[in-house]
Amino acid sequence: MIAFPIVLSAPSGAGKTTIYKRLMAERADVGYSVSCTTRPPRPGEVDGVDYHFLSLDEFDRRRVAGEFAENAQVHDRAYGTLRSEVQKVLATGQHVMMDIDVQGAAQFFRAFPQSVLIFIIPPSVDVLVARLTRRGSGEDRDELLTRLRSAQKELHEIGRYHYVVENDDLDHAVARVSAIIDAEMTRRERAPKLDEQVAGLIARLEQEITNYV
Ligand code: 5GP
Repeated sequence: MIAFPIVLSAPSGAGKTTIYKRLMAERADVGYSVSCTTRPPRPGEVDGVDYHFLSLDEFDRRRVAGEFAENAQVHDRAYGTLRSEVQKVLATGQHVMMDIDVQGAAQFFRAFPQSVLIFIIPPSVDVLVARLTRRGSGEDRDELLTRLRSAQKELHEIGRYHYVVENDDLDHAVARVSAIIDAEMTRRERAPKLDEQVAGLIARLEQEITNYV
């Protein structure tokens, strides 16, 4: 089995972080790529675990050096995925899951065309607003407005994604993303040495058939 990247995108507040944390806990075959950002850590966030928190200068240095598989401005802050992080996880044989906004997802797909792109949608705008205001991440009114406008823009880009999962119920959403991963693992194009395996079966069948004619 060849490991592949799994990109999860969603308007913030759609519950994507909770979904990927659950998947990571449930599936040993999925690892996570830690993104870089220039936004400050929220309470409880740990550098190198939740994000690599970088200064703008450091972020730019890495961008110019071509270290990012994708990078984008999200809510006026810079975010990016390091190629090395993705390759590090894939090299362990695990699929690598990423939380990337829609602009970044398109760039990332060009860099890693074997990726599966999944968009998580909230069941309603009321639920989205409730989640954003409840989560106590220090967002003020302006920040909330920025996130709602981003959500609107992101939804216009849903056509770039292979799968859409509605996060109506966390358990169901996690189960659906997990089912997508399982299904993708069985795609013909992903099977290593399939031609050899099938040629072997055909040759063996030929022998078997001659026993009966
Ligand atoms: P937050 O600041 O709430 O953690 O994330 C805000 C947004 O940034 C989310 O929509 C998330 O998908 C996006 N994001 C997080 N990491 C990356 C990344 O590495 N690249 C891109 N393009 N977007 C990211």
